[in-house]
Amino acid sequence: MGNQPMIVLSEDSQRTSGKDAQSMNITAGKAVAESVRTTLGPKGMDKMLVDSSGGVVVTNDGVTILKEMDIDHPAANMIVEVSETQEDEVGDGTTSAVVIAGELLDQAEELLDSDVHATTIAQGYRQAAEKAKEILNEEATEVSKDDRETLVKIAATAMTGKGAESAKDQLAELVVDAVLAVADEDDIDTENVSVEKVVGGAIDNSELVEGVIVDKERVNDNMPYAVEDADVALFDGALEVKETEIDAEVNVTDPDQLQQFLDQEEKQLREMVDKLVDVGADVVFVGDGIDDMAQHYLAKEGILAVRRTKSGDLKRLARATGGRVVSNVDDIEEDDLGFAGSVGQKDIGGDERIFVEDVEEAKSVTLILRGGTEHVVDEVERAIDDSLGVVRTTLEDGKVLPGGGAPETELALQLRDFADSVGGREQLAIEAFADALEVIPRTLAENAGLDSIDSLVDLRSRHDGGEFGAGLDAYTGDVIDMDEEGVVEPLRVKTQAIESATEAAVMILRIDDVIAAGDLRASTDDGGDDEMPPGGGGMGGMGGMGGMGGAM
Ligand code: ADP
Ligand code: MG
Repeated sequence: MGNQPMIVLSEDSQRTSGKDAQSMNITAGKAVAESVRTTLGPKGMDKMLVDSSGGVVVTNDGVTILKEMDIDHPAANMIVEVSETQEDEVGDGTTSAVVIAGELLDQAEELLDSDVHATTIAQGYRQAAEKAKEILNEEATEVSKDDRETLVKIAATAMTGKGAESAKDQLAELVVDAVLAVADEDDIDTENVSVEKVVGGAIDNSELVEGVIVDKERVNDNMPYAVEDADVALFDGALEVKETEIDAEVNVTDPDQLQQFLDQEEKQLREMVDKLVDVGADVVFVGDGIDDMAQHYLAKEGILAVRRTKSGDLKRLARATGGRVVSNVDDIEEDDLGFAGSVGQKDIGGDERIFVEDVEEAKSVTLILRGGTEHVVDEVERAIDDSLGVVRTTLEDGKVLPGGGAPETELALQLRDFADSVGGREQLAIEAFADALEVIPRTLAENAGLDSIDSLVDLRSRHDGGEFGAGLDAYTGDVIDMDEEGVVEPLRVKTQAIESATEAAVMILRIDDVIAAGDLRASTDDGGDDEMPPGGGGMGGMGGMGGMGGAM
């Protein structure tokens, strides 16, 4: 082969290696963190995201922002995944997790510049993260399931600074009620808490209904408005006579034959309804349509029927009433029916909906969220989601921490001591990790328009003096005891954020070679290349975000 270069990659693929690859990935990761940083904390700002079809989302929620941004840089995506994991595991802390990941990358960059090897940094970071989780576990306070007051504080803290702010105390009570209502001995499934959004009215008109609300009306005006002690049938099909698949022509020679034909159809419908009557159904939720004739029979039998019930609603109804969704009316049996103490049509916000209440079997509740406009209600829903998540997490783990940057400041302090005990080059990485965590109190201060250096100095000295709960009051700028202020978060919000942020940062740091196949080229480019296709480039779909340009 001699000196002949051997080409193993296709002509279209592009390869970046060594320091270039590292710095390109770090830059992308940092840019993602930078893009959500200003939303952190009670005084964080919101983002308006506009998609290609003109849809608008206004939000303060980290994971929502990143999802809507449609990022396609691979390293940037690893940071986005941090927020997704956080959302799945806890429901809150998505911005914090990403901001920490970004700062870990930033600190690592400095270490790389002073020739600390990436593997050493990775090791130091991992050690620091382990130690941090250990410290938090020790410092966290236990909270019992009956400590309603703390649960409400936790629910309210997760809603701070979001669209729900104005009514957060009242909403926090509803959230705690909702989670407690669906919690049983060993499991809390917040899927059983549904949220029904109603545009109109104020946020503080929101309420909690024990049961399920279906956004439909009864199909026929002659049916009852409400039924007490209702046996509920759930049917995932149509109460109609099946049309033939093939176009058939029926030739009738005299009017009697036509009548027979129609009678036959009527008979089939009558049989379906009879079946429902036989098993004792008082209310029927049907997934598909209901024939006029069937409606008429049902009404005559005093059955309340709803058509075109969404399959999600059918499932929820099944869970709540203890019934079973059947796909063929002929097969329905008494056992398949669920039960609700009351089913009725009620007006909320000028819209009629079916309320299925006093459900017996499973626990199921619906939060009726109200708000002035659709965007407001949507954002309140996201805040409620976070809030449901933290209450659930607290009940599961039973441990809480103060918020407002208190745990991060404490960790930074203790990790610096720990670093001294480790020594070697890892010490530098652990110190860098400690510095990185302080990005949370620093950002809380910055976003509140405070001098971040003053705030940090204040926080550090109070923690030095042994005040674990000292955090930043974003409204006054004072450093105060967060427990007293009622700013409390579940332990897992912090441990999960540290864990995923560390893993993502380490993963990015360890990459020293990016090989992009032809098609991927646009998304792995480092942003400074003339060959980029229009609109593509380093951060792919992030082009529309204000402020991203500066971060690149
Ligand atoms: P995330 O997506 O990370 O939850 P948030 O915008 O909800 O982002 O901000 C969470 C941060 O705000 C946490 O560090 C939390 O402790 C802090 N925080 C919440 N309420 C207060 C408050 N009243 N005062 C100070 N800090 C607060
Ligand atoms: Mg939050």
